[in-house]
Amino acid sequence: METKDSVEKINIAGIFGEDVFSDNVMQERLPKKVYKELRKTIDEGKDLDPMTAEVVANAMRDWAIEKGATHYTHWFQPLTGITAEKHDSFIAPAGNGGSAIVEFSGKELIKSEPDASSFPSGGIRSTFEARGYTAWDCTSPAFVRHDAAGAILCIPTAFCSYSGESLDMKTPLLRSVEALNSEALRLIRLFGNKTSKKVIPTVGAEQEYFLVDRDKFLKRKDLIYTGHTLFGAMPPKGQELDDQYFGAIRERVAAFMKTINVELWKLGVTAKTQHNEAAPGQHELAPIYNDCNVAVDHNQLTMEVMKKVAERQGMMCLLHEKPFAGVNGSGKHDNWSLVTDDGINLLDPGKTPHDNVQFLLILTCLLKAVDTHADLLRESAATLGNDYRLGSSEAPPAIVSVFLGEQLQDVITQLVSTGMATSSIKREKLETGVRTLPSITKDATDRNRTSPFAFTGNKFEFRMVGSSASIAEPNIVLNSIAAEAFAEASDYLESCGDFEIGVHDLIKQYATEHQKIIFNGNGYSDEWVEEAERRGLPNLRTVLDAVPALSGESSVKLFTRFGIFTKAELISREEIKYEEYAKEVNIEARTMIDMASKSLIPACIKYVRDLSDTVIAVKNAGYGSRAAAENLRKITALTDEAYSALEKLIEDDEKSLKIPEARERAVFCRDQVKKDMEALRAPIDKLEMMVGKDYWPMPSYGDLLFEV
Ligand code: ADP
Ligand code: MG
Repeated sequence: METKDSVEKINIAGIFGEDVFSDNVMQERLPKKVYKELRKTIDEGKDLDPMTAEVVANAMRDWAIEKGATHYTHWFQPLTGITAEKHDSFIAPAGNGGSAIVEFSGKELIKSEPDASSFPSGGIRSTFEARGYTAWDCTSPAFVRHDAAGAILCIPTAFCSYSGESLDMKTPLLRSVEALNSEALRLIRLFGNKTSKKVIPTVGAEQEYFLVDRDKFLKRKDLIYTGHTLFGAMPPKGQELDDQYFGAIRERVAAFMKTINVELWKLGVTAKTQHNEAAPGQHELAPIYNDCNVAVDHNQLTMEVMKKVAERQGMMCLLHEKPFAGVNGSGKHDNWSLVTDDGINLLDPGKTPHDNVQFLLILTCLLKAVDTHADLLRESAATLGNDYRLGSSEAPPAIVSVFLGEQLQDVITQLVSTGMATSSIKREKLETGVRTLPSITKDATDRNRTSPFAFTGNKFEFRMVGSSASIAEPNIVLNSIAAEAFAEASDYLESCGDFEIGVHDLIKQYATEHQKIIFNGNGYSDEWVEEAERRGLPNLRTVLDAVPALSGESSVKLFTRFGIFTKAELISREEIKYEEYAKEVNIEARTMIDMASKSLIPACIKYVRDLSDTVIAVKNAGYGSRAAAENLRKITALTDEAYSALEKLIEDDEKSLKIPEARERAVFCRDQVKKDMEALRAPIDKLEMMVGKDYWPMPSYGDLLFEV
């Protein structure tokens, strides 16, 4: 047993950011003039001159080498949704056969050229046009990562093609941050704000995940190839007792949480909250929010660290949206707000929102933005994994709506009905009926956990995002649609003559025209699905329903206005999504085929044989075994059913591969191959409950969920 004294003491303040080339480190290590130049690039987007880059590169290299780094990498986010890296060591030949010297130049810091042809580009380039460049994003700090590869200096970078199209998530994200900054500034200037220099989208992403035992994981091909289970009967106990959520954390899981916290803190990630989630084996980690760009990088880092640490500790971290059918899946809540460089949260309603005119305009602009681009927002969270989760009473439905809560709803109702809001519902004292408890006041608004886009005090919480996805895309959309709504409001207000009347009219107009997007009720209910249809809100159930939003007219208008995506880029991203969808379904199908043909059906047949032997032996002994005979009959029938389903799946999977056009192939995969997969799974899950445990060739849901 570990005694209290032997528990390692962790000094958070001491280790926080120790592996980050942070602002402090730069101030310490760079000559004043160089530091100032770099800050201008970071803060104002000024071009970085080669001389400055050279000095920064040298300082960064020396710092990284002191941390033990042997390599550096441009760390980027291609359209695969995960990060990519190619390591280069600091070594360079010294010439004349001399010994190696350590080198890293300004050129290597700001630009690198990975072969772009093996990353998804959606037809933007062919393989003979393989040039791709990664360029240093100095607004997200470099860091040294320690793992089995040693210590690697990671330089966050953007990735684009030879002809300038973005091939990653970061480039459009940075563009969207800039667009939002200038349009939000323009708007608050109209309200007389002359002091703020910048408006920054802030993001805090709550990350859900599952932990399973690594040895058990390795016995399941579905987990290995697809990250989630494709077969599996429910164990006797699931999450029905609600005893997992916020429950006491098991030692093995607690040790994992402790390690990831320390690793993340060293990397400057503000890991803050940890708890057990609703499903057995499911947990959550939330950081303190950060600038959008940094928050996106930090979420990628968090996922990487989680996977590595889990493996080191004999576990596997499942980030898939639906690891287990019948058990809650995992999402990622993208908390989003707008904060100025001098600390004003533009989504803070204050105590009396009804007379906070700037807030009301911003709020109604956002209602308009979300209503106008509900399809695009839905699309930004569309992945095959998320299709298993959205709309099945564990996550928001596939319908985008906004939850405002009692207080703001009341203000909006006043605005719509009379054109004026004259009062705000006040916070009340919470009556506990116990005198010894401190007196606390309630928030003006309760929470609503079923809404995909909920106002939570001074931020919005976008809850559709899948747990494995990059949060770049949802934030690109949020930033862009907000920028557009702000721009349209400013266009009007700058030319309307009387500002006071203009603002008043706009707020009323936006609230009235877009109130259909507000829904404060239960988003999981069937009534809402019907009501949403009556209101004309899109219900885009699958990836393939959502993807066309990308190249739709309003999307092209939005993204080209701010130079975030060209039409060609949007079309190529759409193409990539179709390709990816079909490929993922094909991989799932082939995994099921592999498992069913090579291990599951053979296990059933073996059991059938042993049962037959038993039936004969018992009969010869002069008895009859009803248990053996009945089981034999049922299992034989189900195994045949599974075999026929397997044949059909093989046939349709092959058929799908012959469909040349990506969208058509994806639709066939959704409408046919996935149906075949369900038809194969059903009898096999029944068989799992009938075939002897010793015969079943892989760990069950119970083994995976309850034996971590
Ligand atoms: P809950 O689970 O109740 O939604 P959490 O505390 O787990 O709440 O998560 C809330 C998340 O929202 C945290 O990551 C937090 O840092 C983030 N957040 C708080 N304020 C802001 C803000 N102004 N902008 C963006 N994110 C914010
Ligand atoms: Mg939340």
